[in-house]
Amino acid sequence: MSKVIIRECKNYELETLIEKINGSVEMLGGWDKFVQPQDNVLLKVNLIGPKPSDSAAVTHSEFVRAMIRILKGRNCNVWIGDSSGGAIAGIAPTAQGFKVAGYERVAEEEGALIKNFDREGVVAVRPESQCEETMYIAKPMFDADVVINLPKLKTHSAQIFSGAVKNVFGCIPGLRKAKYHKMAPDPINFGQIICDIHKATKINLHIMDGILAMQGEGPTAGSLYQANKILISEDPLALDAVAAKMVGMDVEDVPILETAQKRKLGEGRLKSTILIGDYEQVPRLGNFKLPKCFRGAKKRNSKALVKVIDFFDTHPRINPSKCKKCNMCVESCPVQAIDKDTKLIDYDTCIECMCCHELCMFKAVELENSNKVAGLISGFFRK
Ligand code: SF4
Ligand code: SF4
Repeated sequence: MSKVIIRECKNYELETLIEKINGSVEMLGGWDKFVQPQDNVLLKVNLIGPKPSDSAAVTHSEFVRAMIRILKGRNCNVWIGDSSGGAIAGIAPTAQGFKVAGYERVAEEEGALIKNFDREGVVAVRPESQCEETMYIAKPMFDADVVINLPKLKTHSAQIFSGAVKNVFGCIPGLRKAKYHKMAPDPINFGQIICDIHKATKINLHIMDGILAMQGEGPTAGSLYQANKILISEDPLALDAVAAKMVGMDVEDVPILETAQKRKLGEGRLKSTILIGDYEQVPRLGNFKLPKCFRGAKKRNSKALVKVIDFFDTHPRINPSKCKKCNMCVESCPVQAIDKDTKLIDYDTCIECMCCHELCMFKAVELENSNKVAGLISGFFRK
């Protein structure tokens, strides 16, 4: 049976974080089980893009600081690594992300090293699902003695939920991520890629920053939710199953998690998971807003409604009054569906991966639920 620890934690006060995390790891057998002195320990953060820590889009920098303090206290060498999504002027904005999220400052102050996955080289692996012949994964994932995943509790406008399982997508460096979005626009197939990354790497521990969470149209354009939780597990799927339940979803509602369950990435059944820490039952986060695509997914699960739901769709649409013309969406779109000059989307080309929505730093890419009749009428005006 997998164990998931849930701790109540109301803020990012350093001593409190250290005490809660240390106490939780103790419940899993203690730090000695996971790290040894002189180990190179990689903290795989969630650095989706150049977003500040208080935006809830990235793992909070003080959470990362607490982890560095703990590990340095055990004489480990600590690395902070990730690769952001998207592109500006053909370059992934990871370096900028490390600055804006506050990781660069924290690394300097605490004596950790930044590992920008776009610049550290790759290791070629053969993916288990054979979605393609070779997959290239950031080298620090293999160079480190120990990898600790630090996901953020967030909803996701395309994948419904973003937690410990999905957080490995940043192990694919730079713009290659867009290739996978193009190759697997369907969330179930995308889940196969995510599972391939997990199966090719070894992540020893998963510690979720669920203190300031993101609800609604995450992973960057949602709103803040003070969830006050830290979740810890050796099993990423069990952790996500508990986190998803907290916000009102089941594993079957989230295609990536459903795929992870089928691929036996971990334990997705709550009845086979032991909860310890501050709760014996999964706590529910009241009035937590789920993404629009979640409602669609729920309806799709009903065969009787499948024909009706086929008529409905969620589209991205660029709001010209909010757009700053930075071109992040244009350069990140895996199928070049966004016109550089007009910022209009060609809906015949768009694969609805929602990368543009995910990556726009100005919340200018909005999602609209519309039926195809309305779409036909308004399509003329949108194009
Ligand atoms: S929609 Fe957002 S990402 Fe695209 S150009 Fe405008 S501001 Fe930039
Ligand atoms: S325009 Fe469509 S295909 Fe392009 S990034 Fe946005 S959602 Fe994805």
